[in-house]
Amino acid sequence: MEEHYSGRAQPGPETFESTGNDLREYIVYREAPGASPCAPIKQPPSYQFKPINWKTRKVDRQNLTVYFSLSRTEASTRLKAATRGQAMPNARFPTLELSECTDESLKFVLSRTDASVANALRRVMIAEVPTIAIDLVNISFNSSPLHDEFIAHRLGMIPLVSDKAADMNYTRDCECEDFCDLCAVVFQMDVEGQVEGTTVTSQHLQNVWFDPDTYPRASTVEPVHWSCGAEHPDPALDASASGIIIAKLKAGQRIKLEAIARKGIGKEHAKWSPVATVSYKSEPVVSLRLDELNNRLEVAQRQELLKWSDGALKWDARTNKLEYDDAFKYGRTALSNDFVRKCGEMLVQVGSHPSEVILLNNDPSRFEFFVESTGAISAPVVVVNAISVLRNKLQELQTSLRAETLDRVEHGLY
Ligand SMILES: [Zn+2]
Repeated sequence: MEEHYSGRAQPGPETFESTGNDLREYIVYREAPGASPCAPIKQPPSYQFKPINWKTRKVDRQNLTVYFSLSRTEASTRLKAATRGQAMPNARFPTLELSECTDESLKFVLSRTDASVANALRRVMIAEVPTIAIDLVNISFNSSPLHDEFIAHRLGMIPLVSDKAADMNYTRDCECEDFCDLCAVVFQMDVEGQVEGTTVTSQHLQNVWFDPDTYPRASTVEPVHWSCGAEHPDPALDASASGIIIAKLKAGQRIKLEAIARKGIGKEHAKWSPVATVSYKSEPVVSLRLDELNNRLEVAQRQELLKWSDGALKWDARTNKLEYDDAFKYGRTALSNDFVRKCGEMLVQVGSHPSEVILLNNDPSRFEFFVESTGAISAPVVVVNAISVLRNKLQELQTSLRAETLDRVEHGLY
């Protein structure tokens, strides 16, 4: 990572020998006291990066600021890069291109990265972006056909608007004794069945802390009643328009309860997951074994195929063979579905199997994502929050590695 080469370096008198140890190999460099630990170095001279034998050498804590474990090869590569004034060789900078964006769903292409990063992002979106959900239900009266646990489970599954979740505390970390408006939201519900029958829905849940002056966080939390907030449906046409159905009551039946919603993450329980689905797929890459194609097809067939190639192929008049056009080579055009189908048909006609000529692969550095929100947080915010969670995880790792190494150096363990 880029942060590895950071801070303003000062020339130091020490030179260390590279012998390696049980923690593989470390590199340290000396830094001016008070320098920002994350400011990138413009042109690091070679003396800033010194392999060190930790077993025999103690390092002054003041001067030791950056350390990391690398394989011998990586260390050597980075040392060479440092001498060329290049801070990070082969660095990749992932990019994200949006193709469709609404509050409910998002489509984007994540590129210039690999499957591990794409999958980390997907998993964090599912399991580690915090939202608010009903976690504790006190039922004081229930004569409905559903037993208490059933109702409590249904209440937990109702998505709650969680825009303020980032500002709230987890109850376990909060200083309050039981719960408070910094870590919870309280809802109440008291519904009695009418003669014609009554449907209990999420609309019946009343936020007790609705006053924004007294409860700036909790007052914004309310159930997400509809699957699409932009189109409030007509209750006359759609039974679900009045909210998410919890139970149906006959005349005289009653449900009275208090529900406490708390902040949590999908890893604890799926009800806290902000997404209904997150998926990604690699971008397909279609290419040809051109020499085989030219050998197997007749000249007339090749000329016919050229018309279907949509600028991806060109004709070499000298040899009467097909070649890739420059636009294809530079990634500006691709082989279309129609072309692949036509090419396959021609190959079958001459007795070949299409897979002998048409190569279907995936681009390992591009991923098409689809994110669908439950409504608790809008889909674009889910992605932004997930990236923030990932960054915090890496910073934690960096901090703990730093503390661990300093501790070891201080106690002479190297
Ligand atoms: Zn609290």
